[in-house]
Amino acid sequence: MKYLSSCHCGRVNLSLETPGPIDDYLPRQCDCEFCRKYDMYYLSAPGGILVVHAKHRLASLKHGSEQADFWQCSNCKSIVAVSSPFGENTKGAVNGNFFSQYMKLSCTKSVSPRLLSPGEKRKRWLALWMNVEFI
Ligand SMILES: [Zn+2]
Repeated sequence: MKYLSSCHCGRVNLSLETPGPIDDYLPRQCDCEFCRKYDMYYLSAPGGILVVHAKHRLASLKHGSEQADFWQCSNCKSIVAVSSPFGENTKGAVNGNFFSQYMKLSCTKSVSPRLLSPGEKRKRWLALWMNVEFI
């Protein structure tokens, strides 16, 4: 299934392809200050792909253990996705807020990744995240 969206100002286009319907993937709400501040929750479909097409430069923000890049539209300041390199691939999750119009269910699962060790985080991401391409 393919879903299209963009950041608040429309300068970053997002294309999400998921093996199953979007409602099969429960968005995760992180309880840290950073994620609450940017009002983001994480949506990823293992086996799926996210294509991020920015018409201008994305800013990369780091926080917590600094293992991942949080991609921010430099115009509207919304964070569209998070990613980290895994070998030759980049894996990540999208900010599910930008796809909520496609979701029938509005529930999210609360998670506390800040309580995990750096190694545990990588393992978790490998299992949950999808491939991300920046064009
Ligand atoms: Zn924007």
